[in-house]
Amino acid sequence: MERTAALVIRLVPWSEASYVVELFTRRFGKVEAVAKGARRAKNPFDTAVELLAVSDAVLLRKRSEALDILAEAKLEFRFRPPGGRLENLYAAYYVAEMLQVLTEPEDAQPSLFDAAVAVLELWRRREINPWMVFRWETAALKLLGVQPSLAHCVECGQRVVPKTRVAFAPVHGGVVCDRCRGGKRPLLVLSAPTWKAWMALAQEPLAAVTSTGPVRVGSSGELRAVLNQYLAHLRGKPWRMHPLLPR
Ligand SMILES: [Zn+2]
Repeated sequence: MERTAALVIRLVPWSEASYVVELFTRRFGKVEAVAKGARRAKNPFDTAVELLAVSDAVLLRKRSEALDILAEAKLEFRFRPPGGRLENLYAAYYVAEMLQVLTEPEDAQPSLFDAAVAVLELWRRREINPWMVFRWETAALKLLGVQPSLAHCVECGQRVVPKTRVAFAPVHGGVVCDRCRGGKRPLLVLSAPTWKAWMALAQEPLAAVTSTGPVRVGSSGELRAVLNQYLAHLRGKPWRMHPLLPR
């Protein structure tokens, strides 16, 4: 039996009474476990087996191909958007989608777990805005080692000196300077203020993941569009929640 803090990122019906629950856990990273009886009206987990619920969980770990068993789950909190705001709910689903897609099974990422729980705690109390989502994304990409190169050209390594616009090549993982941009497709264009805002976000400490205001002047719609394309490239397909995020 192993105890760990856990966030429910996906639920799949497994039998009439049970779910397979995908958890992002603090100690073990992403794991799948059977929650027996969790689909019954009176179930042993009460409300801890629910999408976006954070709990103190006890797992019976299986070594082979078999699934873990969720033995206990004591609810810490479950995500409910403030005033039923759908934008907050979609952004929270997006946290689950990112953890599901971008993390590997059994790869413990305690800082990423803490950041996810911290933003969900915030987003269930505060009306969401685009910058709050950008902070989560920037922190997650950084912790996962897939933060795009923003200051230096991905091709030649030179520091990019922006004039009015900066070219960003999602397939190549970052910005490209004027000399290297030829032939790079697709090539997205960011205005200098938006690029600077993104750089400022990337330089914030992890603790700033729960800050709420814009980092500086910049177009959130423009940054949203570039992040969508960059992340779609990372994943190899579009994201379900991207069209539903605040701009
Ligand atoms: Zn270059």
